[in-house]
Amino acid sequence: MIVIDAEKCIGCGECEKACGFGAMSVVDGLARVDTNACTLCGACVEACPEESIGIEGTRLSGETSSGLSAWQGIWVAAEWRPTLGIAPITHELLGTACGLAAKQGTQVTAVLLGFGVTDHAQDLIRHGADRCIVVDHPELAFFTDEVYGNVLADLALTHKPAVILAGATPMGRSYIPRVATLLETGLTADCTGLDIRKEDGSLLQTRPAWGGNLMATIVCEGHRPQMATVRPYVFKPTNPDPDRTGEILSVIPKPEHLRHRVHVVETILEERKGPALQGACVVVAAGRGMESQENIDLVETLASLLGGAVGSTRAVTDAGWLPERTQIGQTGVTVSPKLYIGCGVSGAIQHVVGMQGSEIVVAINRDPTAPIFDVATYGIVGDIKEILPLLIKRIRAERG
Ligand SMILES: Cc1cc2nc3c(=O)[nH]c(=O)nc-3n(C[C@H](O)[C@H](O)[C@H](O)COP(=O)(O)OP(=O)(O)OC[C@H]3O[C@@H](n4cnc5c(N)ncnc54)[C@H](O)[C@@H]3O)c2cc1C
Repeated sequence: MIVIDAEKCIGCGECEKACGFGAMSVVDGLARVDTNACTLCGACVEACPEESIGIEGTRLSGETSSGLSAWQGIWVAAEWRPTLGIAPITHELLGTACGLAAKQGTQVTAVLLGFGVTDHAQDLIRHGADRCIVVDHPELAFFTDEVYGNVLADLALTHKPAVILAGATPMGRSYIPRVATLLETGLTADCTGLDIRKEDGSLLQTRPAWGGNLMATIVCEGHRPQMATVRPYVFKPTNPDPDRTGEILSVIPKPEHLRHRVHVVETILEERKGPALQGACVVVAAGRGMESQENIDLVETLASLLGGAVGSTRAVTDAGWLPERTQIGQTGVTVSPKLYIGCGVSGAIQHVVGMQGSEIVVAINRDPTAPIFDVATYGIVGDIKEILPLLIKRIRAERG
């Protein structure tokens, strides 16, 4: 919230000039803020020559980087959505967190925000959490990064976890940076590997860097909590243990953390044919080697025969042959199906980082030197327009 010191304000109007959102004005010789228009960008704070304007309440406490040892335990920010329940990424994060906690000799806490979610707490304990902190409130029924961010940051300041892990999903990518900012700590986004440094127990956070050409391992020195988002389907989920028990802690959020400027009016579920790409057991990916949009039918037919999902390379989505959501890779989604079939895919590193977790990789390419063959379990050298119809015919014949 913007605060104005009336003793210091001289009504010069510099704040009004600096504000790009029309939120500042001078009334009766004093600066005044319209909180509905204000985005807390801080331009007015910087512009004020009398230092009479400040931002209060953005940072939730005066915690600094000192006393790092007071921050203990590993938290998993559970992802709940009204239409889906607990998202699979939560179970993957719990699996990873359990492995890290065993190395550190510490505990795993799942933090669950939402409305009508308390019943899910036991599920999170069965999947590896030692404790579940539940904030079950009507204001959390719909996701807004303001409220979710404020509530999670406040919990972190109260309980002081050493590590917070969240999904690199649209939801995690949206509110976790806010939490890191409020806590004045670092955040490593899109991690594909996590470990514990033996010497001091720091979190080693590995992610692709420089266009996927190298893997960078990042450490958050001198600040806590250490925060990382992790791509879905990179880590394996834990198997639930029905006999596992743990503590469930219900927390009532502070009213000031429930205020938000974004109101969700309606949620519309996307309609799609076949299984979701992320999580599909079979993925048939189209590359530029499909040559034209008409030939994409072949990929769709093969995917449908195998009960799989259609994926693509960026070349294909750039060409508009398939929608962007089908793109696999560094700037797309990560998949780890049992079977991946790459059709006219060259195997650029930016694509491979998104599919290298596949169990069996079949590559079809007319160029025997294409890099995709380096990561393929089976390779077929030939023209896609000949190979795919043959494959489709054979599968149909096998099935009568
Ligand atoms: C910062 C950055 C991020 C990126 N992110 C992504 C990403 O997330 N995902 C992604 O996929 N790419 C990404 N890219 C692009 C990536 O570098 C490649 O350009 C892209 O993956 C190539 O797509 P492709 O394999 O379909 O096309 P190409 O590289 O053009 O390969 C086409 C292949 O098809 C073969 N072929 C041609 N005709 C036939 C035929 N008739 N039959 C059989 N084979 C045939 C060719 O031999 C060739 O190997 C990114 C690039 C950058 C710089």
